[in-house]
Amino acid sequence: MPRDDRSTNLTPQRAAVVALAQALIRRPSVTPEDAGAQDLLAARLAERGFRVERLRFGAPPHGPVDNLVATIGSGGPHFCFAGHTDVVPPGPRDRWSVNPFAATVEAGRLIGRGAADMKGAIAAFVIATEQFLGAQDGASSGTISLLITGDEEGPAQYGTDPTLAWMEQHGVRPDACLVGEPTSAHHLGDTVKIGRRGSLNADLVVHGVQGHVAYPQRADNPIDRLVRVLTALKERPLDGGSARFDPSNLEITTIDIANPTENLIPGQAFARLNIRFNDQQHSRDLVAWLTEELRRHAPNHDLAVRVSGESFITESGDLPGIIAAAIEAHTGLRPELSTSGGTSDARFIRRMCPVVEFGLPGATMHKADEQVRLDDLDTLVDIYRSVLQRFLPWPKRHDAVQRLCRPGTRHAGACDVRAHWLPGFQPKS
Ligand SMILES: [Zn+2]
Repeated sequence: MPRDDRSTNLTPQRAAVVALAQALIRRPSVTPEDAGAQDLLAARLAERGFRVERLRFGAPPHGPVDNLVATIGSGGPHFCFAGHTDVVPPGPRDRWSVNPFAATVEAGRLIGRGAADMKGAIAAFVIATEQFLGAQDGASSGTISLLITGDEEGPAQYGTDPTLAWMEQHGVRPDACLVGEPTSAHHLGDTVKIGRRGSLNADLVVHGVQGHVAYPQRADNPIDRLVRVLTALKERPLDGGSARFDPSNLEITTIDIANPTENLIPGQAFARLNIRFNDQQHSRDLVAWLTEELRRHAPNHDLAVRVSGESFITESGDLPGIIAAAIEAHTGLRPELSTSGGTSDARFIRRMCPVVEFGLPGATMHKADEQVRLDDLDTLVDIYRSVLQRFLPWPKRHDAVQRLCRPGTRHAGACDVRAHWLPGFQPKS
């Protein structure tokens, strides 16, 4: 790749981030395969002085899964970037205009599986970190880490969750974490996710008594009971939403009887539903409600519930504010602080530290011809670097930041700059 080709606006930064994103996309790491994607990152980060831990968890069919924790620096504050190298399958090849793993650059865009979700963001964060470290001189104060998993798109069983457990055991404790999911909606920087709804899946089996359709008095039709249960569940609004969240919602996703016979009342009926719930709800109470309605209308039943996460929110303040300020500095946009959308690995990370998600526009994620604009990749490097500069009071930054502590502010005088940037940080004096 040419070093600086003005005709295509290929600055060194853009060349670097595009090349790394391409190298990652060319390793077809469809969950749970890694295909060398993490080898590439591990080698590169180790070369830059990171301590790299490779963590492999799980067994077939959903594993083993490769994960990686890389850290540089020491002490606090500790800023962590989290991401996933795994991608969803490309789907039918004929839906793509290019080979999904060739990482084609065309008309100012990088096209390939994982370009938006989220190899582009990983490349941007690595380049931003290298630039940030390269600009420092002298001993560092603070830590940067990367938590990279190969199981985000899959069951997420052998990925971020056990990797966090390993980090806790080994004293790797970030003060704040940025997840590079493609949160932007239409333009890079328009949306940051500061929380997520919880998600609960329930399988309902209602048992009745099988019989001849002409003799209903000798049978007990489980379909009637199931319909009554589902009607009761749908009729009650869960809540009216809250300051940061839309109302919780229950959707029935399937009703299966699989009865091939015209004159048979079936013995059982099955339904599945999903509840996306906000911070007014807890899965425990939702399960109690499901159980109560089932008992009322269908005493003979089985209920199986899977909770993929409770709702959570990282309230306005330091971390969302730092990220929003970095975005505004490089895009002019004031991002919406949103809690919409599906679940992500932030639901695990929140147990360790404040977590916010921000990354590329996600309109094409999981689709054929998944793509990102090269301009956006480039600007994302600027934003991530700016986040690091705002969060970490490395020596070279210290003087500049300390000048912000003017007389009259809370930290005037003997100021520890971290008080300005770290959620919950208390100066020692
Ligand atoms: Zn993702």
